[in-house]
Amino acid sequence: MTPPRTRPRRGRPAVFNDAMQTRYLDAITAGMRLGEAAQHVGIHSNVPARLARKDQEFATRLADARAAGRKTRADNRPHGEAHYNNDDCRHPDCAAAARKGRARRRATTARQPDREQHATIHDLDPPTPPKSPISLPLLLKAS
Ligand SMILES: [Zn+2]
Repeated sequence: MTPPRTRPRRGRPAVFNDAMQTRYLDAITAGMRLGEAAQHVGIHSNVPARLARKDQEFATRLADARAAGRKTRADNRPHGEAHYNNDDCRHPDCAAAARKGRARRRATTARQPDREQHATIHDLDPPTPPKSPISLPLLLKAS
């Protein structure tokens, strides 16, 4: 059975109607990934992108929702060095974690020269001088 239509139209049926678009965009705004949000409203994940190519208004709403969602996810991430580095969080906890991380890496780098002291030294044979049949007699004559 085909679903009832509000107006006659050609081509693909409206699988992604206004109510679904709103639910989809709300889910994105709340921090859901695109694929998850598509699954959430029950559409294939390529449907919104296809609509965004045809519908500039939807494209703008989607872009806004994605930006808001990125911020939501960043705000929900736990404080730590990654939060400081990736999300520009300047919470004291993040700043402290980043400081500690940097100090640890510096200490690791400073220890590196130790390794050179334990390096194996290989004795190489001295290079053999090239044999030259004429150089010696010439040298003897010259002296
Ligand atoms: Zn933070």
